[in-house]
Amino acid sequence: MATCGSYCCDGDFNKDDVSTTRTIESCLPLPLPDEILEDIVPKAKDFAILHGAGMRYRSNYDPDSLQLAPFFLLPSAFPRREFDRVVKLQSIVNILMHRIAHDYQFLKDALEKTIKVDDFTRRLWDIYTTVREEGISQEMSLGLVRSDVMLTKCQAGCCELCQTPPFVTVHQVEVNTIASGFGHMGPISGSINRYVLGEMRKPELLGHLPENDALAGLCGGMIAAWDAYGCPKAVILFIVEDVTYNICDQRFHEYEIRRQRPDIHVIRRNLTQISQRGRLTSDKRLVIDGDEIAVVYFRAGYEPGQYHSEAEWEARLTVERSKAIKSPSIHYHLAGTKKVQQEIARPGVLNKFLSDSEAKLVSQLFTGLYTLDMSPEGDQAVQMAMDNPERFVLKPQREGGGNNVYGQEIRMVLEKIKDSQEREAYILMDRIRPPIQQNYLIRAHEPVKLVEVVSELGIFGTILGTAKDIQFSKFAGHMLRTKLSSVNEGGVAAGLGALDSVFLFD
Ligand code: ADP
Ligand code: MG
Repeated sequence: MATCGSYCCDGDFNKDDVSTTRTIESCLPLPLPDEILEDIVPKAKDFAILHGAGMRYRSNYDPDSLQLAPFFLLPSAFPRREFDRVVKLQSIVNILMHRIAHDYQFLKDALEKTIKVDDFTRRLWDIYTTVREEGISQEMSLGLVRSDVMLTKCQAGCCELCQTPPFVTVHQVEVNTIASGFGHMGPISGSINRYVLGEMRKPELLGHLPENDALAGLCGGMIAAWDAYGCPKAVILFIVEDVTYNICDQRFHEYEIRRQRPDIHVIRRNLTQISQRGRLTSDKRLVIDGDEIAVVYFRAGYEPGQYHSEAEWEARLTVERSKAIKSPSIHYHLAGTKKVQQEIARPGVLNKFLSDSEAKLVSQLFTGLYTLDMSPEGDQAVQMAMDNPERFVLKPQREGGGNNVYGQEIRMVLEKIKDSQEREAYILMDRIRPPIQQNYLIRAHEPVKLVEVVSELGIFGTILGTAKDIQFSKFAGHMLRTKLSSVNEGGVAAGLGALDSVFLFD
């Protein structure tokens, strides 16, 4: 039986075929009676804000107050078979990313054209080649990765995975190797939904919500790296934005490190501060304001706007030159670019990095990814996208949400760039069409609303090791973000998506 291809799943499926899953039943019959909502919504909001489901106000930043993060009242139904499948695969996905990151030739071939037209990726690449030529001072890298997947509507019988109910399978959106957030927000969303079901006197449903130790897992990864560095006085550095709106998620990482290991100290600095106050010793130890840095955890540095001037680029280079263990180190960052993701999905590539059986399992996560290089293959992809833009997503080499191009706009963008090398800054991807369900959206200062939604599941993984020696590769918890089915992207901070958790069904 063939694996799912773009035609059976994300693309031109037969919309009249009833065996194609287009909706998923919610965990409870909806709508809920008004009197239940009136009772439960204020309780849920209190629980959320009191357990750190908050964000700083974007429009009116105030360090003294927090706004309730948007969340869904109920956990969203997710097929257990698919959840278990991605959980089991995560340690292999970690290893794949680790090996890709350590394959200089693969990264070079994959990014060669991209770096000619994408200035940001080129700067990252230049840092990589600089530290590589100087000799990498820290062979060990810490991967705190998050593989994001969405369910896709499948036609019964189109592949091994969708011959049986629920006729859906997961397809990977991307793998994040830098600033993989929601290690706190993921588990806390599950706690909110557990509390809600408990208050609604539905304890029999609680077993459907999987355990989620993402925060402990990710912080455990940082602590293992700190131990490997082997200097009891050294600290963990969080590289942060100038203003952190998603402060709860980050601070709870600090508190969890303190909980697990009271002897380890965390400091937070932005790239500008590092440029002013960071220095390397003659033996490449990174020292900031008198503290030696054992581990660097990047929660910023993934978008051009976070490098205001040459000073911030210098700071990144200083960090990469150092013997601190970085999450990610520069080659790990590059391995997580969209272009590399597209190159990994080429037939035969997985088999270079994984065993045949592992490669087969990972390949089942992939949907169609296409190069837009100036080549006959790229020409064909351009034509395909122009002919049927609704079937695709056009992606530049950016992280952090809000950068992709959808629908008719794809045609407009490609029309402008199709005959120039500029198009090599992008990749093309099949658009995943997840099944829809209903849930109650709760947002600060707004009435609760029953809405149609789709979800994106993030699976966390931790991996520590050198090119030759992997100390561990683990699954480290999950998070679920859910958005209105009508929007293209659902960033929680951007207000289009909201926190959610998983309700497993068979
Ligand atoms: P970023 O690095 O900005 O997070 P992503 O590739 O994750 O980039 O895309 C951002 C969002 O766009 C995703 O969270 C998802 O909602 C949507 N998206 C991305 N790729 C696809 C796709 N192939 N099909 C459907 N939606 C997608
Ligand atoms: Mg993403």
